[in-house]
Amino acid sequence: MTQPIALITGASRGIGAATAQLLAQRGYDLAINYQHNAAAANEVVAAAHSHGVRAVAIQADVSQESDVVHLFKRIDDELGTITALVNNAGIVQPQTRVEWITEDRLDLMYRTNVNSAFLCCREAVTRMATDKGGQGGAIVNVSSAASRLGAPNEYVDYAASKAAVDALTKGLSLEVAAQGIRVNAVRPGLIETEIHASGGEPDRVARMAPAIPMQRGGTAEEVAQSIAWLLSDEASYITGSFIDAAGGR
Ligand code: NAP
Repeated sequence: MTQPIALITGASRGIGAATAQLLAQRGYDLAINYQHNAAAANEVVAAAHSHGVRAVAIQADVSQESDVVHLFKRIDDELGTITALVNNAGIVQPQTRVEWITEDRLDLMYRTNVNSAFLCCREAVTRMATDKGGQGGAIVNVSSAASRLGAPNEYVDYAASKAAVDALTKGLSLEVAAQGIRVNAVRPGLIETEIHASGGEPDRVARMAPAIPMQRGGTAEEVAQSIAWLLSDEASYITGSFIDAAGGR
């Protein structure tokens, strides 16, 4: 059986780090991508090593094509050909209304949340596709409930970026279904991570919890379970699908 090798983008913290922990428990070798926080990435690597798998931390700004190309080259050289990709890296920016949006903000948002996923998918497909000599594989894109809800008065630009990720998921899944590659997405709701502080409201989950049918935010570990399942052989007939991990929201 092929040794599973996964790249998780943005795996130094939050949902990416929790996914790394779970995939290491399940025997995946791991490429732990991060942008700035080497110390956090190295902790994730050390935790993975404790499960007896190979893991390397690789700095790359996945919003930049040259960094993505370099990231995949390092994985080829240091781990081998990936069998799984989790497009998890993503940002929000300070809460705003559309009437105050700027071009610079949009450029950063779409480079980071959309271009990164396209570029990483491109690199993964060229390696996984069975008609190009690959072994097949699975891709999970981390979208957001915002793609369904629109995030008014906060992050409409972010919601639109995640709608683009949903379209990528559906379109690519159909392009590569006959090449041994499954492409799915998880759409988390309000999850307890540091992303809310970067949007200017660290306590956002607590504020919004009463509006969630389950009356609480989710954990990164709960989202990781859905990601790991979609990557696994248990989901072998699932492609172009979405799991809403959002407490009923
Ligand atoms: P987080 O705690 O803020 O962590 C973000 C991670 O992404 C970090 O590892 C960060 O690396 C990395 N990153 C950011 N920009 C990057 C770039 N250009 N290149 C490479 N890595 C980059 O975020 P999170 O809450 O876990 O979110 C993870 C994903 O889930 C995102 O796509 C987000 O949109 C989605 N999501 C989150 C929620 C939620 O409520 N938390 C809800 C729905 C969807 P450094 O540590 O180096 O900075």
